[in-house]
Amino acid sequence: MEFRDTESQGAWRKEVHSFIKAERPGADGDGAPPTMEEGPESSAFKQWRGKLAAKGWIAPAWPKEYGGAGLGVMEQFILNEEFAEARVMNPGGMGTSMIGPTIIIHGNEDQKKEHLGAILRGEVRWCQGYSEPGSGSDLASLQTRAVRDGDDWVINGQKIWTSGAHMADMMFMLARTDPDAPKHRGITYFLMDMKSPGVTVRPLINMADGHAFNEVFFEDVRVPQRNVLGEVNRGWYIGTTTLDFERSMIGNAVGQRQTLEYYIRYAKEHANEPVVNSTRTWRGEFADRWIEAGTAKMLSYHVVTLQASGRVPNHEASIAKLFNTELSQRIARTAMKLLGTHGQLRDPKTAPMKARASGSYLQTVASTIAGGTSEVQRGIVATRGLGLPRG
Ligand SMILES: Cc1cc2nc3c(=O)[nH]c(=O)nc-3n(C[C@H](O)[C@H](O)[C@H](O)COP(=O)(O)OP(=O)(O)OC[C@H]3O[C@@H](n4cnc5c(N)ncnc54)[C@H](O)[C@@H]3O)c2cc1C
Repeated sequence: MEFRDTESQGAWRKEVHSFIKAERPGADGDGAPPTMEEGPESSAFKQWRGKLAAKGWIAPAWPKEYGGAGLGVMEQFILNEEFAEARVMNPGGMGTSMIGPTIIIHGNEDQKKEHLGAILRGEVRWCQGYSEPGSGSDLASLQTRAVRDGDDWVINGQKIWTSGAHMADMMFMLARTDPDAPKHRGITYFLMDMKSPGVTVRPLINMADGHAFNEVFFEDVRVPQRNVLGEVNRGWYIGTTTLDFERSMIGNAVGQRQTLEYYIRYAKEHANEPVVNSTRTWRGEFADRWIEAGTAKMLSYHVVTLQASGRVPNHEASIAKLFNTELSQRIARTAMKLLGTHGQLRDPKTAPMKARASGSYLQTVASTIAGGTSEVQRGIVATRGLGLPRG
């Protein structure tokens, strides 16, 4: 593993840095962890997206012919790192990071033409329809059925925990097309228009009172054959390609360090006020979190170094995902302990840190479940990393 930039990587880092400085002055605001205030509907966001699109930087690793910049894994990583350092929003999302790259590999020319440009222009938002009430970790047991009828497939069933389904135009989803085949072999990958008759989205409100995910029901939903990605009954293997892309975006180590910096600054600035719990000192605990944030960054470097050398990270990505997400919970707990009873406050107008600590304490609970639970990651590390027998 090489920690230093090569000469050309250094030049690229400078180019990205100068671009952000010129185009998004004051981007790092008050130094607080990023919020969603500049959401995808804001004009600031749309302007920023336009500037990035003109440079092919919305999906820098896509080939130039599909609107990307044709960059390597390392350059993409550096771009992400610089965006995170400057706290500017990366307007990617599932379109550019998950389904776009999957279509580039498995899609036919018509599908590439129809979907890739629309993703880059920000015209179409995607959601991921994998999990079902009885199928999460054991995804291949999914039961949503698709039956061929003329030029269409007719889909019945239910998905759950579907992030962003209430805002999505399209869903990439898996459904069972051959119930008699072994469970990994009878699944097909569909691109479904969320406005199709028979699709119902019901909100699920999380314990932080946020509406991020949903239940999605399908009642005789017709999806044309041209929206099948890859071969019928081979969807599992395409679905795992998408999961590889999902895993490789997990682990925002820079974000963890910035959140921690914000909490440390807050502790210093408010040291003699009742809002900081003065029954103990905080230096030792902050030092532990600081070292762990450094470790998280090294684990991300390990994953990206493997990718850059053409290897597919496997248990290494699981280690990074596991460590990063559990660290996000430890950092949130440290902040909550720092604030003592004030940490219970949830109203951003009156709560210390604009309720960022209490919000992140609740929200990070989900991080060790989404994208594969910690237990599942530990299973991968044990069997594929350490070579232990399946228990
Ligand atoms: C915030 C959030 C966003 C999400 N967004 C999406 C989305 O957009 N699209 C989507 O399709 N899904 C999404 N999910 C679903 C997510 O992928 C699943 O929740 C996850 O894979 C776990 O599945 P499950 O909830 O069915 O739990 P289960 O698989 O039922 O697991 C229950 C418990 O059993 C443990 N367990 C299961 N199998 C094993 C094993 N082999 N070894 C050891 N322990 C095991 C688990 O670790 C867990 O503790 C999201 C989830 C969250 C929390």
